[in-house]
Amino acid sequence: MAHTLAPLAAGAPTRSPTIRVLAAFASNADCNLASLGFAAGVDFDRLLKGTSYEAPFGQSPFAFSRGLNFERSLREGGYGSVFALLRESMGFEIADARVVSLREGYPPNRHGMIMRSRRTRALLDGMLREEVSAPNLIDGAVLATSVGGVRAYFEADALAARGRGPIHIGEVKSFPVVDDRGDPEKVGQALDQAAMYIHLVRNVASELGHDPTLISADAMLITPHNTGMRPTLSVKNVQPRVHRARVLLASVPSVADIAAFAPHGLSFGAIADQRPAGSHGKQELDPRADRRIDALHGLADGVGTTYRPLCLSTCGLARFCRERAFAGGSPNIAGAQMVRMLPGIHSLGRAADLAAGAPAAPTEAPAAAQLVRAARLYDTHTAAGGR
Ligand code: SF4
Repeated sequence: MAHTLAPLAAGAPTRSPTIRVLAAFASNADCNLASLGFAAGVDFDRLLKGTSYEAPFGQSPFAFSRGLNFERSLREGGYGSVFALLRESMGFEIADARVVSLREGYPPNRHGMIMRSRRTRALLDGMLREEVSAPNLIDGAVLATSVGGVRAYFEADALAARGRGPIHIGEVKSFPVVDDRGDPEKVGQALDQAAMYIHLVRNVASELGHDPTLISADAMLITPHNTGMRPTLSVKNVQPRVHRARVLLASVPSVADIAAFAPHGLSFGAIADQRPAGSHGKQELDPRADRRIDALHGLADGVGTTYRPLCLSTCGLARFCRERAFAGGSPNIAGAQMVRMLPGIHSLGRAADLAAGAPAAPTEAPAAAQLVRAARLYDTHTAAGGR
């Protein structure tokens, strides 16, 4: 696929392949456009910069530097504060302090990612065999998986730890947790990331002939206590999220099939902001914005999209896709329940026509019968109410 995906991404903003990005994408796994962009490594959060559909995402510089400082503080003294937490909360022995960091010493490219994923496998194998020389903490692991038939490598933000007993995954986040409670949305995202990591590590364990349940579904969340920098550890069971991650990844459509529907000559590069950095104000609209949006319509028409309200918090193209869904009267704009109630019906306008008695195609017939009944009921009640 590389010869197909590279030209599609040329000139577009790209993002590093991490498990955090993979976990966020998993919610949009049934969207062809999102799958194509993900496989090509395109950063949708930055793709529409300079247009009226620009994504409002992005971490504040303060939160970003707080996150870096917190991670750095955990690594100090040979991960001393992490081991202190593991001893206090997870029963690690005093002697358990063998760390391998894979964040340095590898080229910052795909070749480096492949080397790190091989080393990660070997280290996990040693941990699962309980070899004396095996580490009990891995930082910067890289795990491989296939997404829509494309082999990809993902860097873990989280830590993999083993004392006595199963391997535990520890997700490090810089938002505060007090009395085991944090911002529910941020905690949910962190647990989804930990669940994705657990799923991928369990895959490696199975491939190596180990029992995958030796990787615990109890994820550790390592966060600052309150608003300071002192770390605290909370444990959450994420088994349902691990199951969901497996199902969602397995449902990603074939990227090769999707790419075949991309209009010839169209690429994400044609949609991207090509203005040189520093040539314009931060909020200034790109004079080419309309042409870029036309190109995105072409790509979206060719490969297809699956807009739903959840996209607003998970995908950088959500404002664009929401407007398309409104313009087309897609049932998706009314949420998943409406989509389930209107099988075979592609727009709310068509649903209104069928409710008014328009002849139904065979695929529309089951929902059309319900719509006609609902319209009669509505008319009866509004007529009665009007008398
Ligand atoms: S916003 Fe658009 S491209 Fe992104 S997942 Fe939703 S439908 Fe797909």
